[in-house]
Amino acid sequence: MKTRLNCPCGTYIVGKDEDDLVEQTQTHLTESHPGMEYDREQILFIAY
Ligand SMILES: [Zn+2]
Repeated sequence: MKTRLNCPCGTYIVGKDEDDLVEQTQTHLTESHPGMEYDREQILFIAY
């Protein structure tokens, strides 16, 4: 299961599970990268 993601801006995101990671990443994108949208598949593709 992928639970970690390193955003290109340097932010390190850790989730409890994949659902949590996707949710946290989307929250981060909304707050820090307005206009950038990724769906679940794309987020999990760059997660590890
Ligand atoms: Zn970021």
